[in-house]
Amino acid sequence: MKHERKPEWLKVKLSTGENYQELKRMMRSKTLHTVCEEARCPNIYECWANRTATFMILGDICTRACRFCAVKTGLPTELDWQEPERVAEAVEQMGVKHAVVTSVARDDLKDGGAAIFAATIKAIRKRNPFTSVEVLIPDFQGNWDALKVVMDARPDILNHNIETVRSRSDRVRSKAKYDRSLELLRRAKEMQPDIPTKSSIMVGVGEEYHEILKAMDDLRAVNVDILTIGQYLQPTKKHLKIHRYYTPEEFQQLKEEGLKRGFSHVESGPLVRSSYHAHEQVQSAEKR
Ligand code: SF4
Ligand code: SF4
Repeated sequence: MKHERKPEWLKVKLSTGENYQELKRMMRSKTLHTVCEEARCPNIYECWANRTATFMILGDICTRACRFCAVKTGLPTELDWQEPERVAEAVEQMGVKHAVVTSVARDDLKDGGAAIFAATIKAIRKRNPFTSVEVLIPDFQGNWDALKVVMDARPDILNHNIETVRSRSDRVRSKAKYDRSLELLRRAKEMQPDIPTKSSIMVGVGEEYHEILKAMDDLRAVNVDILTIGQYLQPTKKHLKIHRYYTPEEFQQLKEEGLKRGFSHVESGPLVRSSYHAHEQVQSAEKR
């Protein structure tokens, strides 16, 4: 593995303006967590300046320990039924047009937290009837009744990440299974065929180019509508090493490959994350 320096196109400008400070204060005062902070997302300055954030519900401690992820690992205790309402209030306060809600994996709970996801979708809708809601869910350990609870709450987009290609899946993700993730996306579409589904691949963890194309084919085979592709960045020295950096041109090439395969929207770029520019994806899915 060649050790490369971080290329220019991955360098982000640190700018903590008024909106950034306000969001930070609000998250603290409402004891809410965001994946923007917990996962050390490089887009936080841009997204928060635009009053866009991804809420992370069900606490900030994950029962899994994926080798690429900066979220804390351990045994969570938190199950807070007031959380959905606080998220809905924050969405209202921020004036969010498209809310993205994700969670840690709660393998300690029988339903994996599905009921709280459903309650959060409903609470956001009630306070913000014109806001679309996207949920980025864990695999609920293959509990399809739990998936149904979420789908019955009718999110505007159902997102579940495969994260990487089949051959790298076991090494990169903890406990998750490539085929189980595909199965979840297939079932979600079967349960509510009119709800767009979405998934994400991060590149630079040792995959081959042709394997990325195969992962796209696998996602299209279960009718996934929206795809995001971004560069893996090592959050700390303890995390999985970066295998290589893809150039902006390669990301453009991957976007074209995705569109050729029939995704309604492909967001592909070095700093793209699952929730990056998510509001634009709901619009393209609606037009479909
Ligand atoms: Fe947050 Fe998503 Fe923006 Fe990252 S890309 S800062 S996770 S909203
Ligand atoms: Fe991070 Fe993995 Fe937990 Fe998701 S399941 S929060 S990627 S450790």
